[in-house]
Amino acid sequence: MSIENLVNPHIRNLTPYSPGKPIEEVERELGISGSIKLASNENPLGPSPRALDVLGRAVAGVHRYPDGACFALRDRLAERMNLSADQFIFGSGADEVLEILAKTFLSPGDRVVMPWPSFAMYPLVARGMGAEPISVPLTSEMQHDFPAMAAAVGRGAKMVMLCNPNNPTGTSFGAGALADFVSAISDDVVLVIDEAYFEYVRRADFPDSLALVAERPATVVLRTFSKIFGLAGLRIGYGVSDPELVGFLDRARHPFNVNRLAEAAALAALDDDEHASQTRAMNDLGVDYLTQELEGLGYRVWPTDANFVLVETGPGYYDALLRRGVIVRPLVGFGLKNHIRISVGRPDENEILVKALRAIEQGGDVAVGEQS
Ligand SMILES: *Cc1c(COP(=O)(O)O)cnc(C)c1O
Repeated sequence: MSIENLVNPHIRNLTPYSPGKPIEEVERELGISGSIKLASNENPLGPSPRALDVLGRAVAGVHRYPDGACFALRDRLAERMNLSADQFIFGSGADEVLEILAKTFLSPGDRVVMPWPSFAMYPLVARGMGAEPISVPLTSEMQHDFPAMAAAVGRGAKMVMLCNPNNPTGTSFGAGALADFVSAISDDVVLVIDEAYFEYVRRADFPDSLALVAERPATVVLRTFSKIFGLAGLRIGYGVSDPELVGFLDRARHPFNVNRLAEAAALAALDDDEHASQTRAMNDLGVDYLTQELEGLGYRVWPTDANFVLVETGPGYYDALLRRGVIVRPLVGFGLKNHIRISVGRPDENEILVKALRAIEQGGDVAVGEQS
């Protein structure tokens, strides 16, 4: 008997997504304490106090099944975003919306064009349906290579992913680039624009992707409550699209896919403009501080519109930082062995990181090739 041979070939060959190491695990392994985690682009201020407040009350209702359609939240979002309530699909994180999209549109052999390096879930959800991810390398400036992506779409693709700002590079594209790309691809291709970091964006010409949804029905915009709203641990994100398309996504969605606590907390966090603007202000300062300090140390730092920075340090820095109790994101899996991704922390955390890097440079304790 071979279990392996029983497994669906699409699943057998997958490499599981590898999340950053939990802080407790790192401390136990290294026998250290007081370490900081700047690895998963979480909100370093924590969740919105308003969300915490409603969670306390919502807990008493967890013997009831949730409303997976999230009626209350969809109405509030529709009002805030000036959309219609039937344009939303909710998931256990935007990750699940990606999976619902894959389940709805992809069959074995279908092609999905995506930038690379980009969000690791894109190839995973495509492969999970037996579809073929077509990775188009970013330009040397870590930008989406739109002409190459349009050409790849033209060779026969069912779906194309854009990530704006792009994870793990932080780089973004503007309205002009998106408009040119859209006019270069067929209206029959499902265009997914992942805007998980939308609320952090600073560039003035950021595309109005919701307007694009109105003009081009096979377009889906993804947003999440995991990032600026600080609810990563509850799992809730959403997609915005044409009502007809959303109706099909709903057929592929489990009825109770979003839990009660997540919906209640998201609803409260959505209206906590103070928490969001405080987070954004702290992030802006953190991005500027880190960019200046890290460039001062001689590293290349990419411009970012998100709550993390891509830094070209040279090899070995992930491990060297880990030994000093600072957890960042290694990018070896993306073929970026000279780079790390650093989530912007609170000012005190950013200073700890900079001090650790300074100490590494002075101590010379980075050995080439040791990055795990
Ligand atoms: C974090 C992230 C998501 C989704 O996160 P969820 O926690 O599943 O909502 C989606 N796309 C990108 C690019 C991300 O970085």
